[in-house]
Amino acid sequence: MLGKTWLSSTGQDWKLRLGLVVFGVSAASLVTAVAIGERSDVGFGLGMFVFALLFMVAFVWINVAIRCPFCGARIIWLILRTRSHHDSLYSAFHSLTSCPMCKRGFEKPSYSP
Ligand SMILES: [Zn+2]
Repeated sequence: MLGKTWLSSTGQDWKLRLGLVVFGVSAASLVTAVAIGERSDVGFGLGMFVFALLFMVAFVWINVAIRCPFCGARIIWLILRTRSHHDSLYSAFHSLTSCPMCKRGFEKPSYSP
């Protein structure tokens, strides 16, 4: 799905996949809420609640669970918070080669978590 990235090098790509699945379920809840909104106010409210809850859970999960294997820094959160939006997503999920906090590389052959 993502190819060879720092997430797969550090064995954390499953965390991103899990977060994306929860984002997908969240989006499905939004679509369902809108679809049944004309027939049921309770259904609409419940669907929107599930959408918002799962969206927040997925966002927090991705930002908290993905960490530097060396220093434990929350790398995704750190990058999204400190870099410009032009390159932050690409850097956070694809092009990163070392931890922005401790500067240790993820691509070294001798890598061990
Ligand atoms: Zn680090």
